[in-house]
Formats: sequence, structure tokens, C-alpha cells
Amino acid sequence: TPHVGILALQGDVREHAQVLRALGAEVSLVRRPTELAAVDGLVIPGGESSVIDKLARAFDMQGPVRDAIAAGMPVYGTCAGMIMLADRITGAIDGQETFGGLDIVVARNAFGSQVDSFETDLAVDGFDGGPVHATFIRAPLVTEVGERATVLAALPDGGVVAVEQGSLLATAFHPEVSGEVRFHERFLDRVRAAA
Ligand code: GLN
Repeated sequence: TPHVGILALQGDVREHAQVLRALGAEVSLVRRPTELAAVDGLVIPGGESSVIDKLARAFDMQGPVRDAIAAGMPVYGTCAGMIMLADRITGAIDGQETFGGLDIVVARNAFGSQVDSFETDLAVDGFDGGPVHATFIRAPLVTEVGERATVLAALPDGGVVAVEQGSLLATAFHPEVSGEVRFHERFLDRVRAAA
């Protein structure tokens, strides 16, 4: 059984826990370095990335998460979690930092106030079983994809919304709120392979 953690500083921790438990994973909430050290993979939830960043630094979690990423721990970030995994971001507030790891530039709140939230069906590279129903909530957008990252899904206008790089996976949308399990399954496959 894969033992995975959810970074539980802020955001939609419970939704990820439900999906991962339904897929048979053992799930722990991670707030401290010792809790991170006990898991084989980590989910960074959606929420507010500037708050997750502040709390991560206040709880002395920034360094340990960066070290875990550098050591190859599988990590899946949704929305704010994608922002936290980006090497570079635009629209940061208050000296906001990220964990980094993904060779991408991400623009925060890229869809503006008029289309704050929307849902759409997206084809995802390598997924069987039809399109993904994707829920975007004050979502970020990947505005540059570096050499090391691979695009998994884009909007009809070409905007990149899902990427992977080695053991890192990130989506600008929230599969955990729409009953979509294939990203979590892919993450758990990576955890099993790494463990
Ligand atoms: N707008 C949020 C941020 O910048 C992300 C929104 C989300 O996670 N649903 O962190």
C-alpha cells in the first residue's frame, strides 16, 4: 500500500484525502518535517499559494519539501499546488516564494475576475477512457514550459494547464472535486515505482 502525505497547511486537503483513500492509499496529513519524512509521496492541494508559502516557511517546511523534491519524491500539485511547484511565477504577492522543481513559469489568477471559475472537458496525453472533466477555480496558467517539463493538457486556445517532469505532476485545475481519479492514479503509480 502506498503511503502518501497531503501538505495540510491550507487548502482542499480533505478532498484529496478522500480520492487517495478511495484508490487504496494510506494517507497522512503533513505539517512537520518528521511527518514528511514518513511518506513516500506528497500532494500539494489547491487553496491560496501565498498562504501555503507563508505557513510552509513558518513551520520550517520549505527546506524539507525542497529537499524531498530534489531527492525525487513523487509530488502532485493542483492549482495552488501547481504554483508551489513552479520554478518561476508571475503575479506573486508579498515576496511570495515557491518550492520549485518544475521547469515552468506559472501566472497566478490568470483567468481574471470575469471567468473566475469554469469547467471544461480536456483531452490529456496518455489517459485512456476519454476526456478529463476539469474544474478551474481562480486558476493559474502555465505561460512558459522549459525544456525539462512535458505538457499533458492544454485548453483549446493553447493555454497549458497540466504538466509533468520526472516524478512531479501538476494541474491548474482540481480533479479532486469532480470525481476524476486518473491524475491521482498516475501519482500513486509513481509512488509505487519510487518506493
Ligand atoms: N488563486 C490561488 C493562488 O494563487 C489558487 C486557487 C486554487 O488553488 N483554487 O494560490
